[in-house]
Amino acid sequence: MLTIHAICCECLKSNSIDVHPDDYRNYMYNNQLVQNVWPDLTTDQREIIIGHRQGTYYCSPCWDNLFEEEDKYDEDPWPVDSGEAIKEILLTKMRCNMALRQLLRD
Ligand SMILES: [Zn+2]
Repeated sequence: MLTIHAICCECLKSNSIDVHPDDYRNYMYNNQLVQNVWPDLTTDQREIIIGHRQGTYYCSPCWDNLFEEEDKYDEDPWPVDSGEAIKEILLTKMRCNMALRQLLRD
């Protein structure tokens, strides 16, 4: 078994999951969808694997918080000026990378 780790960008909590190395290879190199490779995993477990691959992961409590914040934009989900939204995403990514780097240094 192979242990995959993903660190949450928001709370920096590390989550892990054990997978079969063959399944992992299938997912990483054969462009398989995570739900096809691991149909029995829960959404939370799949998020760990996806997060591990993408380098950006949010644990489920933080994920819920992010969605709650997004509810504020319900009235106008696609504002004409999306510049601020894009900036927000980039800032989050940047913060995530910095947090990860800090964590690796420690
Ligand atoms: Zn979290």
